[in-house]
Amino acid sequence: MANNQNSVKETVLEIDLGALTQNYHFLKSKLKSETKFLAVVKAFAYGSDSKQVALRLQEEGVDYFAVAYTQEGVQLRDAGITKPILVLHALTGSFETILNRCLEPALYSFKILKEFIAFTELHQQTSYPVHLKFNTGLNRLGFDESDVDNVVELCKKSAAVKVRSAFSHLAASEDLSEITFTLSQIERFQKISNHLISGLGYHPILHTLNTSGILNFPNAQFDMVRSGIGLYGYGNDPKFDSFLKPIATLKTIISQIHELKKGETLGYNRAFKASTPMKTATLPLGHADGISRIYGNGKGWVLIHGEKAPIVGNVCMDMIMVDVTKIDCKEGDEVVVLGPNSRADTLAASANTISYELITGLSQRIKRVYK
Ligand SMILES: *Cc1c(COP(=O)(O)O)cnc(C)c1O
Repeated sequence: MANNQNSVKETVLEIDLGALTQNYHFLKSKLKSETKFLAVVKAFAYGSDSKQVALRLQEEGVDYFAVAYTQEGVQLRDAGITKPILVLHALTGSFETILNRCLEPALYSFKILKEFIAFTELHQQTSYPVHLKFNTGLNRLGFDESDVDNVVELCKKSAAVKVRSAFSHLAASEDLSEITFTLSQIERFQKISNHLISGLGYHPILHTLNTSGILNFPNAQFDMVRSGIGLYGYGNDPKFDSFLKPIATLKTIISQIHELKKGETLGYNRAFKASTPMKTATLPLGHADGISRIYGNGKGWVLIHGEKAPIVGNVCMDMIMVDVTKIDCKEGDEVVVLGPNSRADTLAASANTISYELITGLSQRIKRVYK
């Protein structure tokens, strides 16, 4: 917690691992003590840093990790993650890496199930852990309810694999106007699970809740939950804002201040024209860092000394300009773009998108520092 507020000299993403720990324990407090917790750390832990985040959560006792793609799991293994890692969107070209790095694939179609069984048999595996993904209404990935018997038959026939878990994914758990649909998904998952258990003759880990599922439908926690966004401090509803804290603060500095005369234009395509004399600050981050052009021309803003400075003109690749006419500031001063006091969900809403897109879009060019 060093008081280095004014020591920022470039654009940085400051990651508060203490806030991560607090968010984890808040989410755990919604669950029975025996319910397992899977931390979703795909996409660089939602744009933060999957290595530091996963190491901290491993220390805190998380049971499982999930990534979207195999290569993300390799990075976790390289970082020293020894807990099981579920690859949510395994693809048939990555089986060799999956086996070599002890990753566990989600199998969601007959094609990938058969190919993975054949691959593990060829490599003389026994009881290699696999996860079965079922579609209960999202219609994105997964077996249907009517596939259960055939899936069971394929899995039982081979000693090479063993079903470690079965899961489904909710389509609208954050949307309380869709409660009926969510409950129908949960009910369908329960039916599929019963059918699967009686077919397999054992009880794999069952899981279907994401962060909003944990917060809104805790009765459907089954044996494990999968949380991403909540760990990073966003609960998809203002009523959870006081319990979850954004772990990442995007900070930068003022590179230069410009005085514009009335009638002068600013930035590419002369998109902004000063209607009165004004003062602007140029900041060293742009759309290549994840601040989309959508935030230009007054949609988005930053905080300078706690005051809101709107983005003026078009967002450039490596720079944005903000209006500081009414703010007492100078070159070198600190600027907060995102963080607990300048929330990603609020800024994202101004551009009709969601926190997930804004934070996962923060590019790897931005230096990560730790609190
Ligand atoms: C990304 C993802 C999650 C995490 O969802 P959050 O809303 O971030 O908690 C859970 N399950 C699956 C299948 C996912 O793809």
